[in-house]
Amino acid sequence: MENLLSDRINNLSTSQTLAMAALARELKLQGKDIISLSLGEPDFNTPDFIKEAAKKAIDENYSQYTPVDGYLELKEAISKKFKRDNNLDYKPSQIVVSTGAKQSLFNLAQVLLNPDDECILPAPFWVSYSEIVKMADGIPIEVPTTIESDFKITPEQLEKAITPKTKMIMFSSPCNPSGSVYNREELTALAKVLEKYPKIFIVSDEIYEHINFTGNFCSIATIPGMYDRTITVNGVSKAFAMTGWRIGYIGGPEFIAKACTKMQGQITSGANSIAQRATIAAVEADPKEIKFMVTEFHKRRDLVVGLLKNIPGIKINNPDGAFYVFPDVSSFFGKTLKGTLIKNADDFSMYLLAQANVATVTGDAFGNPNCIRFSYATSEDLLTEALRRIKEALAE
Ligand code: PMP
Ligand code: GLU
Repeated sequence: MENLLSDRINNLSTSQTLAMAALARELKLQGKDIISLSLGEPDFNTPDFIKEAAKKAIDENYSQYTPVDGYLELKEAISKKFKRDNNLDYKPSQIVVSTGAKQSLFNLAQVLLNPDDECILPAPFWVSYSEIVKMADGIPIEVPTTIESDFKITPEQLEKAITPKTKMIMFSSPCNPSGSVYNREELTALAKVLEKYPKIFIVSDEIYEHINFTGNFCSIATIPGMYDRTITVNGVSKAFAMTGWRIGYIGGPEFIAKACTKMQGQITSGANSIAQRATIAAVEADPKEIKFMVTEFHKRRDLVVGLLKNIPGIKINNPDGAFYVFPDVSSFFGKTLKGTLIKNADDFSMYLLAQANVATVTGDAFGNPNCIRFSYATSEDLLTEALRRIKEALAE
């Protein structure tokens, strides 16, 4: 059949995290005993105090369009959160609330990139970064890192990737998928390079800020010289177990906030009113309220890393945050396992699905062809069973 769709959509990759999650769901419906470690989504329920705030908002008739950039009360609460958790001063006029951090990132690419502008993506990066850049006609410049450097980009690598076309760098810390957390010294070293190129913007995705086992968190906007050129992205999906509520936000220079508001005013308008009211409760809460989830993720990290280290051929770093492990499985490439030739990470991930009934995501989607990603945001029992099955499937 003739392809009537635009080049834009034809050239766009499907989100591999969402695709794998959909496949796992479908196989489960067919009666298969699938353990899905594909989607990055907490298995906890949204905490009661947040749900109560939403119920109250419904009863109080928060049913109309909200300001495009979010309720002022929410932006004031986010402003206080930035000060409390990150030592960052963002006035409400510098904050925009969006339909998930995904939309925040999309807005930023749309308002900052001209055709052929380059955006540096330290790899591995979250699947949607490269496509978000492409949708803005920008060019993603992937800078590969390896497990040996804990998947972190060095100042030398950053400098080498910069060209006259570089407009922006986008990264997450804690990182999805590697779990790596950049400390203040590492960010300062990167900032030293960026100081020489004042026209480059930094998009710092801090959505896993609270899911960090190091006890220290640094926002790059706090490094001298970086504040005016950094846009700090955050949201409530991960730390507050609110993936379905769809609220993300940015803090950044006022002219960028205004541009993002203009952008989303033509696409989605303000984010969902009830979810915004609930988010006020979430961001105003003491982070201690969500500590129990972080503690649980920490225990699971230790469990999964321990079990993976016991599987010959798998190489793994010790992820300091988020809820993913990103082992290097390249030692299996070129081998035949139970009659299946494993050529690459895609084959490896599909082999685990077929032989172990465990869904993972190929590293290719994250810009690293040697690895696969497991999300450990699921119970210890399921994780133990999944790793038992994987070990058995790889035992040849
Ligand atoms: N950034 C990163 C690094 C993520 O892992 C996610 C998860 N989907 C997002 C942004 C987007 O989150 P959301 O749209 O649910 O706020
Ligand atoms: N961020 C999550 C993940 O990486 C959710 C899915 C998505 O939006 O990509 O699995």
